Amino acid sequence: QRVGYALVGLGHLTLEELLPAFGECARSKPVALVSGSPEKMQRVAQQYGIKPENCYNYETYDQLKDNPEVQAIYIVLPNGMHAEYTIRGAEAGKHILCEKPMANTPEECEAMIAACQRAQRLLMVAYRIQYEATNRLVRDLVRNQHYGKVKYIEAFNGQSSANPDHWRHKIALAGGGALPDIGLYCLNTIRFLLGEEPTEVFAYQYSTPGDPLFREVEEMVSWQMRFPSGLVTNSATHYQAHESRRYRVMAERGWMNMDAAFAYQGQQLAISYAEGQQERTEEVQLPVKNQFAAEIDHFSTCILEGKRPYTPGEEGLQDHRIMAAIYQSAREGRPVALPHIEGKDRFR
Ligand code: NAD
Repeated sequence: QRVGYALVGLGHLTLEELLPAFGECARSKPVALVSGSPEKMQRVAQQYGIKPENCYNYETYDQLKDNPEVQAIYIVLPNGMHAEYTIRGAEAGKHILCEKPMANTPEECEAMIAACQRAQRLLMVAYRIQYEATNRLVRDLVRNQHYGKVKYIEAFNGQSSANPDHWRHKIALAGGGALPDIGLYCLNTIRFLLGEEPTEVFAYQYSTPGDPLFREVEEMVSWQMRFPSGLVTNSATHYQAHESRRYRVMAERGWMNMDAAFAYQGQQLAISYAEGQQERTEEVQLPVKNQFAAEIDHFSTCILEGKRPYTPGEEGLQDHRIMAAIYQSAREGRPVALPHIEGKDRFR
């Protein structure tokens, strides 16, 4: 049995990653499309065998409620549109898989969670890294203290952007700059690895003066997070740096270094540890699996078996609360405290 999905927004991610990934899914299939470009939608529908009557636009979106072939909606729109389309989708009686970042603000996330609760539908944020095998292996090694206690983590996610007219550079559609778009991977992955929630953040933010790319959104954010165990982590994100997506976890008796950590594929994990007097460094290679397919099938399993997703809406809300504190810290030039939360499993 496969869950039928409507994909909303036919941009880069939907066309290049998600629709092909459905071909590797065991419990999910694309059955409907929602787009503002009829010609593009017709072409894509033909390619993926989607019926013409299952093609909707942003005005007819709510009519999905009358389509029993669609059980779930995958929201792949600019960030500033996630809240509206999640709420309307839940009101149409569908389960919602929403791309990251969940929305623009914590308040929007709260409204999305409430709408799905009212409609008794599931809500999941598409944090694909949490469904990727190599990152999951590091999580297990960290949480089992395989190399002892974690003492420090550093993470960086950077790339270059060139088009100031793209929605990612408009505050209303993007909600922010490098931080919610790509810095979020550092933030969310560190929380995922540790299973702990930060109690304090301290941040610094910079945008090159006069650069049209950064009229509305920031270029760079660098931030520290303090965790209840005493651990401090260091992260940065940049919109004008050659692509680099990596982290390193330093534990008492070893380190785990992940290059291409947040990439769509090709994670490169190296682990170094002491064996007697010898220092050993090993490269770890796991079988390649499509992480988008794993994420989508996880949500379908939750729908079919009535389970709570591993990355529910509350997980996205927590990231947005932390990002709001990061921006506040950068603005005010001082550490900002976060409410104490008893472990990540609170969200499950
Ligand atoms: P994109 O610009 O390629 O596509 C966005 C789509 O939204 C386009 O089809 C566009 O026509 C449509 N759209 C509707 N109304 C629009 C408006 N007012 N302005 C601009 N576009 C509008 O973007 P994308 O890279 O596919 O990103 C879509 C979402 O997916 C974002 O939330 C992004 O953060 C997320 N994303 C996630 C990953 C991941 O690895 N999980 C990767 C890329 C993007």
